[in-house]
Amino acid sequence: MPFDFPPMLRQQLVTMMEHPSGYRVLPTPHPALSVLSDFSTTTYLTADGRVLMDDDDQPLHETHDPYLLHATLIKAAERFHLPQLRTFIPACPPEGVVCPTCQGTQRMIIDGQPLNIFCHPCQARGWIVPALDSVAATEGECH
Ligand SMILES: [Zn+2]
Repeated sequence: MPFDFPPMLRQQLVTMMEHPSGYRVLPTPHPALSVLSDFSTTTYLTADGRVLMDDDDQPLHETHDPYLLHATLIKAAERFHLPQLRTFIPACPPEGVVCPTCQGTQRMIIDGQPLNIFCHPCQARGWIVPALDSVAATEGECH
């Protein structure tokens, strides 16, 4: 399901596609801003709140993978200076706790430093819902 971007945010994204600077834009019929890219996968954000991707296996298609959706929003918020994109990442529910892997930073941490790799265990949300009686259940609440 696409993110429900408000009209002003959609317009900001459309304007960026019309006047790209330093990033790639997919042309019509699927206008979208290039966001994440690694060796084999690139993700793109559309103005109507969808995340498209292409990779070695499949041509351009919409992805519903929560990890890719959240990682794309975070990266796009930083790259395009649109912090409101982060608000579309689900908030921590009452039963959630801070992700013990990334400590809520949404990125993998090595030697105390967040890396430029998004956290897989929490799907880049920064929180998890621990299984009952797991170790994580004793760690900090995130709300
Ligand atoms: Zn995490």
